[in-house]
Amino acid sequence: EQQVEAERKRLGVVVHGEDVPKPVGSFVQASLPEHVLGTLRAAGYDAPTPIQRQAWPIAMSGRDVVGLAETGSGKTLAYLLPALVHASAQPPLKEGEGPLCLVLAPTRELACQIESEAARFGAPCGVRTAAVYGGVPKAEQVALLRKAPELLVATPGRLNELLSKKKTELTRCALLALDEARRRYSREAAEIQPRLGFEPQISAILGHMRHDRQSLLFSATWPAEVQTKVLSFLSDQGRPFLFLSLG
Ligand code: ADP
Ligand code: MG
Repeated sequence: EQQVEAERKRLGVVVHGEDVPKPVGSFVQASLPEHVLGTLRAAGYDAPTPIQRQAWPIAMSGRDVVGLAETGSGKTLAYLLPALVHASAQPPLKEGEGPLCLVLAPTRELACQIESEAARFGAPCGVRTAAVYGGVPKAEQVALLRKAPELLVATPGRLNELLSKKKTELTRCALLALDEARRRYSREAAEIQPRLGFEPQISAILGHMRHDRQSLLFSATWPAEVQTKVLSFLSDQGRPFLFLSLG
């Protein structure tokens, strides 16, 4: 306990929340699937980054996480690996069923990067991934959705369009990750649905999801003006949640 505190202090980590699980010291300690460990080894990664060490045990215990850490600190795998663990543990999707995990990203570029990282770790575990984003025709994305990916990465505007056209659905989707929660998510949204901004786009998506979903929010910054709104995206505000901040 004291060691955990000392380590957090050394790294400048601030943790808010009750009964917070201890951070993991290594990939093996994190109880990741063997295929994931293999991919981490193949990538030449030696050890989890501080945000991964803190966030994995919390996320894998089913709790919500708000994780704040600087750019380059490994936030993507901090939510993607718990999402893959969740997806692998579910009964297989039936035809026509929507994804088990959803990652929202503010831009097409980021969505593509996240999806390729998800595919790199997911494919060896048998977790199928896909990305949908605006600025390109829908037909190809609709075809990808028909293959029932377990993990979907999306920009909010395009996902709302696909949801309203019933090209996918989120009834089994119990894990939401929001990457770069601070960004306005509005440029693409403004192009597609001029009257809908960042918050309504995300709220509309949440309206399709289970109330007992798990939410993992990761961002490099945490401006005061978005905090209340972003916290309202957590599944249950009454439940203790975690807030990590790296120095
Ligand atoms: P962030 O989203 O916090 O800016 P990323 O998730 O994009 O950071 O990670 C930055 C880089 O570090 C990526 O190339 C990623 O593959 C790599 N990376 C992630 N986790 C580790 C790790 N445990 N060890 C070494 N490199 C890692
Ligand atoms: Mg990132």
